[in-house]
Amino acid sequence: MRKGTQTSVWHALRWILLTFLLVALLPRVVLSQERDEQALGKRLVQEYENHVGLANTPQIERISAYVSSIGNRVASALPSHPEYHFVFDPNPAFKSAFALPGRHIIVGGGLLAMAQTEDELANALGHEIEHIELGQVDARLRGLTKQRSAESLRVSEFFPGYTTQQELDCDLNGQKLAAAAGYSAAGMLTLLETFKAFQKGEPEPPSDNHPTLSERIVQAEPLAKLSTQKQTPLQIP
Ligand SMILES: [Zn+2]
Repeated sequence: MRKGTQTSVWHALRWILLTFLLVALLPRVVLSQERDEQALGKRLVQEYENHVGLANTPQIERISAYVSSIGNRVASALPSHPEYHFVFDPNPAFKSAFALPGRHIIVGGGLLAMAQTEDELANALGHEIEHIELGQVDARLRGLTKQRSAESLRVSEFFPGYTTQQELDCDLNGQKLAAAAGYSAAGMLTLLETFKAFQKGEPEPPSDNHPTLSERIVQAEPLAKLSTQKQTPLQIP
């Protein structure tokens, strides 16, 4: 074998070996990253529970399980069927929800009070799931851990604060996801309309980093109008 041919054979072998190692190790790297995010999410949930003084009474656990069954049915429409963890905070003044790393979502009692149907709750949870699925929570985590360790992160650093476009993307994708899971896409529209009605006609201040309810309603209308199924009333246990 000529020297040149020998060198290129070695080059090719080296590449094959490197590719093989990469393919063998990549799932482990992804798995350990996933485990780190799970652990971080759990710690942030704990911090939140301690901060608001969440007591795990049987009733709160029953409601958490109910929210979780609706949220996980929505998540089951994703191609990877990931498992989500929902935590219910009964505070009536907390009228929304927010997503944390490791697929943890905290849901406020005020949101359950505003939602009248399972379809409305499913659409709201679909929106939160999309903050994770579209990589927005991960992007924030990567930004925060550029100069600091994950151990130093606080739950408040994951409170909403996404851009207008990111929020609109989560509305639309969340609405599609809820519909794919068998819920009515009209749930997104009727929930937003309830929020709008509660504003009592006050004009919304224009904002650069948050969509107005009117913008969100306009976006939710086309899919909602295509849906013909009846919404199921919320049955809080
Ligand atoms: Zn959002």
